[in-house]
Amino acid sequence: MPELTTDIRYIKGIGEKRAEALGRLGIRTLGDLLCYFPRDYEDRTAVRPIAELLPDETACVRAMVAAEPRLTHVRRGMDLVKLRIVDESGGAEVTFFNQSYVRDRLVPGETYIFYGKAGGTLLRKTFTNPVFESEASAGTLTGRILPLYRLTRGVSNRLVMTAAECALDACGDVLPELLPAEIAERYALAKVGFAYRNIHFPADQESLTLAKRRIAFEHLFVRACAVQKMRQMQQKVRGQYIPTPSMEEFFDSLPFSPTGAQRRAIDEMLCDMASGRRMSRILQGDVGSGKTLVAAALLWAVQKAGYQSAFMAPTEILAQQHWKTLQEFLAPFGINVLLLTGSMKAREKSAVKAALAGGSCHVVVGTHALLTEDVAFYNLALTVTDEQHRFGVAQRSTLHGKGAHPHILVMSATPIPRTYALVIFRDLAVSVLDELPPGREKVDTFSVTESYRARLNGFIRKQVEEGHQVFVVCPKIEDGEEGESRLKSASEHAEELQKLFPELTVACVHGRMKPKEKEAVMAAFAAGETNILVSTTVVEVGVDVPNATLMVVENAERFGLSQLHQLRGRVGRGKAKSYCVLVSDTASEETKNRLHVLTKTNDGFEIARADFDLRGAGDILGEAQHGRLFDLATLEMFRTTQSAAEELYKDNPDLAGEELAPLRARIAGLFAANEGTWN
Ligand code: ADP
Ligand code: MG
Repeated sequence: MPELTTDIRYIKGIGEKRAEALGRLGIRTLGDLLCYFPRDYEDRTAVRPIAELLPDETACVRAMVAAEPRLTHVRRGMDLVKLRIVDESGGAEVTFFNQSYVRDRLVPGETYIFYGKAGGTLLRKTFTNPVFESEASAGTLTGRILPLYRLTRGVSNRLVMTAAECALDACGDVLPELLPAEIAERYALAKVGFAYRNIHFPADQESLTLAKRRIAFEHLFVRACAVQKMRQMQQKVRGQYIPTPSMEEFFDSLPFSPTGAQRRAIDEMLCDMASGRRMSRILQGDVGSGKTLVAAALLWAVQKAGYQSAFMAPTEILAQQHWKTLQEFLAPFGINVLLLTGSMKAREKSAVKAALAGGSCHVVVGTHALLTEDVAFYNLALTVTDEQHRFGVAQRSTLHGKGAHPHILVMSATPIPRTYALVIFRDLAVSVLDELPPGREKVDTFSVTESYRARLNGFIRKQVEEGHQVFVVCPKIEDGEEGESRLKSASEHAEELQKLFPELTVACVHGRMKPKEKEAVMAAFAAGETNILVSTTVVEVGVDVPNATLMVVENAERFGLSQLHQLRGRVGRGKAKSYCVLVSDTASEETKNRLHVLTKTNDGFEIARADFDLRGAGDILGEAQHGRLFDLATLEMFRTTQSAAEELYKDNPDLAGEELAPLRARIAGLFAANEGTWN
């Protein structure tokens, strides 16, 4: 009996070679094949009268071969078969290039279904190389919605279709039903067998929609359940009990009053840390929303309770900046904040390590390497990670898995709508800073074409003459890379600007430089020694240069919206009015609209939402390979599956019972590779 785990060589016509080719697509078993969803579909259901075909319309016609097909050798290596077809409405000329065998397959007087694009004129219609089937045996390539699969060398669409059909026949009825009947009923979801058959071979558009909806729902629901399970496991991890202090003493010491959002986030976290369980929380907030202060408040509370904390930044220069800021906040309370980075002298390092081991250092600030180095803590109770980019769950658990279980706070500058965040960060509870400190001026943003170059250069000069600094970001490092010569390269562009502004200092920094060199260039810019810094996106990692007032992004079409917003956040950090100019010569309306979003709003959450709407949920979930499937994974479906999973776990925390056995097994499978997390 074939099962989902049966090797694909079970299928007739799939031997060693084809199995290997399919293996490259990740297809090894019948189950893999069933889950190899089409990337798109071609609707070949419409059969149209020839006379009504519009120029360039792609459709099927049901027509009779009117006369013997004629074969001609045009020249060496080029054969033509020409014939005339007719239906009740009219006729068309059909030409096949280099397919001389069709001459014998098309019998005069017989009727066939032809599928192709109509050419010629309204009066004289033509088809070139149409697909055809005899009327009697039609339905494989014509008259249906054809699945289109992602292919590779040695794998044709026809092969995947045939194999998928075999797999469906063999085990379409042993597909596990992962959804509890009650949920399937409540949300009117199609049955699993129907869904898998119709996602591959849709009976019609409506069945396809039902199938996609059911499969997207199932996919999200299983992940939502895994999130619940992860939360359950987290609940069991104990964390240091940090009694909740009155924060007024700390707040009173600040030069400003915390925003409502900051207070709320601090309360949520203090509540976590006083629960006896380990806190795992992410703080999301737009650039400039004041995340550092939230972290400082926690560091303060943890020290007050007698424990140590560690604060990690993505680069040394950021670690230094954070160290200075945190010292300002905490030193007045006698809290000992020390810096520990790789470039420090051995003697300085061992002094810091000794202070950490002995307990006289209360807060250590460093890079992500901090916890992986041989650092011993006296009583570490909290780690704060300032992460600019999404950081994997697995990485997080190795980082925090060592020794005790300190509370975890992750700070992210990539705002993500809360509902998506639950899926993406799964092991983390989410706090949001959705309010900027008062008096923040928005960064004026312009989207311009190459024709503005001269004016842009004038603007750059003006900013520098007023004593400010300028960031210029390019999408690639050197010319010739990727063979895309139209892209601005950082190094060449820096040279150009230097020629243009001989009296100014132009520096260049890119990801290929050694970390030491990079840091040196960044540090010089931060210190005001450089007027213009041309870079690849390395500046994304948030170095604070309050004197920088202009951000120019070249080939802006190459960046995602959230990334552009992130880049824009590098300016507007000081008192002076700041600007962002997005340069793009894109012809695509969609891209123009995308860039336009940035000129309209400075709200990171709004931008993130627009980005997700434009890119689709599949992209966010890292499951873009499922193509259009996640078109239907709307925000609404995210919410629904999350609350359905939550309810299920509330009623039945162990997912006990026969009916849920397939779901239990699937979730266990997700966790199998990596205990405590999944990828
Ligand atoms: P980010 O969330 O991007 O890390 P920061 O923590 O760097 O933001 O804060 C940006 C700036 O806002 C800092 O100069 C900080 O001192 C200031 N700031 C933070 N909170 C407030 C507040 N409540 N009122 C006024 N200024 C604030
Ligand atoms: Mg920050």
